[in-house]
Amino acid sequence: MSDLPDEFKCTITNWDYIYDLCREVSDDVKAAEFEPDVVVALARGGWFAGRVICDFLGLDDLTSLKMEHYVGTAQKSGEPTVRYPMPEGSVEGKDVLVMDDIADTGGSIRRAHEYVTDRDPGEVRTATLQLLGTSEFEPDFVGERLDEWAWIVYPWNFIEDMIDLTTGVMEKGADGPYTAEEIRGLLREYHRVERIEMEIAQPGRLSEVLEEMARRGIVETVGEGEVAWRLHEDAPSGP
Ligand code: ADP
Repeated sequence: MSDLPDEFKCTITNWDYIYDLCREVSDDVKAAEFEPDVVVALARGGWFAGRVICDFLGLDDLTSLKMEHYVGTAQKSGEPTVRYPMPEGSVEGKDVLVMDDIADTGGSIRRAHEYVTDRDPGEVRTATLQLLGTSEFEPDFVGERLDEWAWIVYPWNFIEDMIDLTTGVMEKGADGPYTAEEIRGLLREYHRVERIEMEIAQPGRLSEVLEEMARRGIVETVGEGEVAWRLHEDAPSGP
């Protein structure tokens, strides 16, 4: 999330919502009469979807590919490269479904499609649970198209994303310490996260996020009575 602007919309999701998107994707795969032999789930965002889609399609062959953004002199800035290759024989001669959570620039799934195609597979198709209008790659199967760009907080990295977002807004608001209510206000101001939306998607979890931030030494509590939180002076810096 590190190269995002200061203010952007975040949408908090939950397991039920995402599970339904997995069902949408597998319904589309069935409707297209595509019968993959193996699912390649991109690490880490595509893992949950890849596993659930194997369940829905009746597949026991699931493998993983980890893409990584590498910015170096020898590489085009931002071009994703393969970090952990697939084991020999994972896709050779097989029909493959490449699965990821979301296509934003679409760089990762495009590169994964190329990588798999170079390994003598049968037919290769791609799927994402969500597709943003910014993507230059059009997956074959999409659970949901999002008209407005947003950062999607998925349930499998809820803590990781909420810590990044909370650290970011606490750095921007200069006059801490903040109560939990004030932190909710900052999340609303910078990321349009409404209390009601967050409590419906992930009830009661802001305090868990703050406690985990304290455990990791990112924030410390101040005062007696009503607890307030401020960034720890030597905290690892936010996004
Ligand atoms: P990029 O190439 O710019 O990283 P990709 O479309 O290839 O964008 O996405 C790579 C991964 O980054 C996705 O699989 C997802 O896990 C994460 N990601 C990218 N954009 C978003 C977003 N808007 N919301 C949530 N996660 C995202």
